[in-house]
Amino acid sequence: MSDGGGSIQSDRQALLSAAIAENWSRQVAWLQALTRFETLPGREAGCQDWLAGEFERRGWQVDRYTLAEQPTAHLLGHADCPLTDPATAVQVVATVPSAGPSEAGRSLILQGHVDVVPTGPADMWSRPPFAAEIDGDWLYGRGAQDMKMGISTVVFALDAITQAGLKPHAPITVQMVTEEESSGRGALSALARGYRADACLIPEPTGNMITRAHTGAVWFRLRVKGRPVHVQDAQTGTNAILSAFALVQALQRLTVRLNREAAADPLFGAVVDPIKFNVGVIRGGDWASSTPSWCDVDCRVSVLPGKPIDAAKEEVRAAVADAAKSDVFLAEHPPEVIWNGFQAEGSVLEPGDAEAVLGRAHRAVFGTEMRARLSTAVDDTRFYNHYDRIPGLCYGPSGDNLHGIDERASLRSLRQTTLVLALFIADWCDAK
Ligand code: ZN
Repeated sequence: MSDGGGSIQSDRQALLSAAIAENWSRQVAWLQALTRFETLPGREAGCQDWLAGEFERRGWQVDRYTLAEQPTAHLLGHADCPLTDPATAVQVVATVPSAGPSEAGRSLILQGHVDVVPTGPADMWSRPPFAAEIDGDWLYGRGAQDMKMGISTVVFALDAITQAGLKPHAPITVQMVTEEESSGRGALSALARGYRADACLIPEPTGNMITRAHTGAVWFRLRVKGRPVHVQDAQTGTNAILSAFALVQALQRLTVRLNREAAADPLFGAVVDPIKFNVGVIRGGDWASSTPSWCDVDCRVSVLPGKPIDAAKEEVRAAVADAAKSDVFLAEHPPEVIWNGFQAEGSVLEPGDAEAVLGRAHRAVFGTEMRARLSTAVDDTRFYNHYDRIPGLCYGPSGDNLHGIDERASLRSLRQTTLVLALFIADWCDAK
């Protein structure tokens, strides 16, 4: 061929697009089946085994292991997560056969997470949260958008490449992990197991934008005590729930201060209040007529890229300790701060080759430049950007109501993004 790369590219795009069209009804049904697994924290094993079967059926070589079999406690970024049992936290890594190395072929990790966050009250949903019902362009379900549609783009992009008669000339590893929503141990375990590549792509639902940076997050539990008395003598007791409320207010003041400081951040200075503090769960007390003797409050606060996790933890500890000092009972019975999930630093993706190749694929499908976004939520790419400086690209399809009621995936976006991924993989891994 002497007429330049452009026409090779567009021939390849036509082939891949036709393959995706041919598989389309299968892809949608596959995403429905995947969404119907209720992969709440600690309950992902059945789904992971199903995926392992899907991968084996495609001739991919599967490595199935649990977090108990692949410890990560010795690694930077590790966090324990009390929501799950490592012995049943199944991870699935599949190696896609390649046609051997070529000069242009570069290796790739394609990663997805199967865990989803709780649904909230099912009666607030317009349809059952795990029914995976379709209405027009939308496929509804907890996890449909975050990030089972992304997983489907990976699998069907690779199917399209095979079906188009193209063979990647570099190793491709497909990694299905858990605990993306709570600790990141799944992704970290794959690194601990030795999986590496020249780039990693995680198709989280980013609305087809590349994630330039994301803030980190720390999870902690405030454990507050009180002195229980009958409510008739309330003045002689202390109320752990009300004490906890005072500590939460202190953390809200800390958040205001952190957001003021964030205005000077080279990236997140452009974002209004990038530090998000959340009180997610509260439990406490035993009896309506007794002042509560205990209260546990589960919280989360953001960490700007570049701030060490220990510094962020120290700020939380100090804010809680200061507030406790001004309370007679808490001064003598200091609240505990228990780190019970994410210990995630923020992360920045430096522009590079992998991003340029992805940008080219994006442009070919959408006809526009790929835009960058700053995310105030954690994703697993941080591990790749931190370890061995593997570029971690977070780019994927779009939907609605992420983590909310009536979460839904856009099928149109699913299809377009599957093509972007197919083009990216074909280009990066020199499929021909
Ligand atoms: Zn996600």
